[in-house]
Amino acid sequence: MKLIVLGSGTSVPHPQRASPAFWLKTTQGTLLLDCGPDAAHRMAQEELEWFNLDVIWLSHFHLDHFGGLAPLLFSLKWAPQTQQRSKPLRIFGPNGLDALLNTFNDAGNYRLFSQPFKIEIVEVNPDDQFEILPSVVATTFHTPHRRESLALRLKDSDGKTLVYTSDTGFTEELAIFSKSADLLLIECSFRRNKPLQTHLELKEMAQLARLSEAHKVLLTHLYPEWDGIDIVSEATQLWPGNIHEAIDGMIVEI
Ligand SMILES: [Zn+2]
Ligand SMILES: [Zn+2]
Repeated sequence: MKLIVLGSGTSVPHPQRASPAFWLKTTQGTLLLDCGPDAAHRMAQEELEWFNLDVIWLSHFHLDHFGGLAPLLFSLKWAPQTQQRSKPLRIFGPNGLDALLNTFNDAGNYRLFSQPFKIEIVEVNPDDQFEILPSVVATTFHTPHRRESLALRLKDSDGKTLVYTSDTGFTEELAIFSKSADLLLIECSFRRNKPLQTHLELKEMAQLARLSEAHKVLLTHLYPEWDGIDIVSEATQLWPGNIHEAIDGMIVEI
């Protein structure tokens, strides 16, 4: 797999960090992991084939992760690049995805589901296992963040694994879910004395990374309080593993 960081930031506007979104190329197709408000523009900026995307994964309905979805569907509907497209776009997310998207669609009469190709909405539950792409197996885990929030574990057909925690509070169960991942893409919202229980601070992230024994760890969802701080050196003082800081535009081979 190959991961391209589109947005390593949060809901807070930041000049170098877009809101959460990641492009993932698997052996079987491409996925967008979360769809923050900047996602469509960031895909274009990275010269990715946004019009050929196979799957969108939505971890939860906070607008920094979800707010780009309706605008992206609006873009796909009208873009010249999609008018000859026939393969479906599948959108996976927590229970309530269909109702939420339809409510927005109906409110503005946007006809977002009337596209040159089929849009398929697939709602999933915690602890589900399903094929997100042919031979790419996904499992989910409910994170202590929001009622519907889910972490995702993907196993590509070549055996490589990626875990995307998205937003989460601390629970050791997340380390079990992330066990031995080739890449653990984990939020590290705060440095210390976190103001919210529903996110992680550095030492909690380090504990989860250690317990998971992930082969590579990529820190994301970085609030502006991390600006100017060497997050990797602080993290490796707590756990001397293979830790990296997500930077918009970064490419990670898995
Ligand atoms: Zn967030
Ligand atoms: Zn959130």
